[in-house]
Amino acid sequence: MNKEIFAVYPGSFDPLTNGHLDIITRASKLFSKILIAVTDNCNKKHSFSLNERLELVQESTKNLENVKVVSFSGLLADYLEQINSFVLIRGLRAISDFEYEFQMTLMNRTLNKKIETIFLIPDQSYTFLSSSMIKEVAMLGGNMSGLVPKCVAEKLEEKFPKHINNEYTK
Ligand code: ADP
Repeated sequence: MNKEIFAVYPGSFDPLTNGHLDIITRASKLFSKILIAVTDNCNKKHSFSLNERLELVQESTKNLENVKVVSFSGLLADYLEQINSFVLIRGLRAISDFEYEFQMTLMNRTLNKKIETIFLIPDQSYTFLSSSMIKEVAMLGGNMSGLVPKCVAEKLEEKFPKHINNEYTK
């Protein structure tokens, strides 16, 4: 264990799930500090605003002392240079994640040779979880317990009120 390394976990977290949280918790035990970098990318359509995403990540990680949450816009490679930190954390759920992550890793390395990406695998009970799947299920009124932190479940309920589902069953 190298306690001196400061690692960055970038992502859109739209919204944060228990899968992301599992990766954050694992990373926080391996590195001295984890910076969760929430993307503020205008080209990507998000269901939650940047502020909502930041607040939910902050609230869900408040018990992890060495975890800090920030937002960034633009190229990740430039942001890493700006903060002088070159270790990235990414999560791998299944082989389907591999191709995209592989391309992204090599692109980041091409942009900046100092960047190293470390992949962590979540507990197997979270390998099927994705933010988009969570939103689909929440929109249809599905139970979120065990899938997302409590504050995220509350926000999903506020955003996608259950009566949307009931209208179809009337
Ligand atoms: P991005 O838009 O950058 O892919 P995400 O918020 O979707 O952002 O994901 C950020 C990182 O977390 C990615 O490396 C993704 O593979 C990983 N991740 C997403 N869901 C899970 C999960 N259930 N378990 C483990 N890793 C996950």
